[in-house]
Order: sequence, then C-alpha cells, then structure tokens
Amino acid sequence: MILVYPGSFDPVTNGHLDIIERAACICDKLIVAVGNNESKKPAFTVEERIELIRAAIGEREDIVVTSFTGLLADFAKKVGARAVIKGLRAMSDFEYEFQMALLNKKLEPDLETLFMMTSVQYSFLSSSAVKEIARNGGNIDGLVPDGIKDRIIMKLTCR
Ligand code: ADP
Repeated sequence: MILVYPGSFDPVTNGHLDIIERAACICDKLIVAVGNNESKKPAFTVEERIELIRAAIGEREDIVVTSFTGLLADFAKKVGARAVIKGLRAMSDFEYEFQMALLNKKLEPDLETLFMMTSVQYSFLSSSAVKEIARNGGNIDGLVPDGIKDRIIMKLTCR
C-alpha cells in the first residue's frame, strides 16, 4: 500500500521525521510530497526542502521524497496512493484537517485520509517555530535533525 504524506516542510522538523518514520512502518511505500504553495511565502525553495528531507532520512528504498503542484487529491491518484496521512498535534490542527479531509473525499471518494498523533515530545513543534527561533539566534537543537541543523541556520540567518 502506498501512502502520501504531504506538507510544506519549510523546513522539515523532528516532528515531521517522527511521522515519516512511523508512517513508513505501516505501508509499503511512503511518498513525502512537498507542496509548492508560493502564497505561503516559504523560506526554503522546494528543491531545498526536498534536499533537507532526503538528507535527514538518508537512503531509504521505502520512502520517496518529491514535490507536487495542483490538487493533492489528483497527485495522490496519479501516484496510486490508497491514502493520505497527516500528523495531528493539537485540537487546533483538527478543524482545518477535518475540512481538507472531507474536501478530498468529495474530490476523490476512493482516497482515504489517515491521522497519526504526534509523539508527545514534538507536540509543540512547528516549522514556523523553528524559523522564528533560528532567525533570532535561538537554539534549535533537538527540534530539527542534527545533520541538517547548520544548513537551516545558515539559510535563515544569512541575508
Ligand atoms: P507546519 O505546520 O509545521 O508548517 P507542514 O505544513 O509542513 O507543517 O505539515 C505537514 C504535516 O505534518 C501536517 O500533517 C502537519 O500536521 C504535520 N506536522 C507538522 N509538525 C508536526 C509535529 N510536530 N508532530 C506531528 N505532526 C506534525
């Protein structure tokens, strides 16, 4: 079974990685799909975000990292995914995710949306928090993978 894990990943955090690792355990192939939504004014280009995710997970035959444009439902269908998997941190994530799940169901009735609870130690973690801390010289140890930490700091602090 193929699962799609979509997101902005601007940049990938340990919270995302936790979901990636756990989601990969319950499917044959996990497609991590970086959304190309320019209206969100991302700090990292799509290519940079893909590179950071690849560097963080290492060589994995069961995980593909790619980007998508357009509707997630169309992308998921194109790649033969049975379901989309989303991470849930708090009730505040729920309302938006609930709406997206129902819209995707309407667009593509055969496509399921699955929710995986965050691990408690990452429940407070978001890409925007990482960016805010790094831009202001704070310590992001433990929030992002060690191997990509310096690249993230460089990008966010050098102008
Ligand atoms: P963010 O909200 O951090 O900008 P994304 O848009 O990249 O994140 O989110 C992609 C997916 O990862 C979403 O399903 C989101 O709920 C999930 N996610 C983000 N951070 C975490 C976390 N700390 N724990 C679990 N899931 C997360």
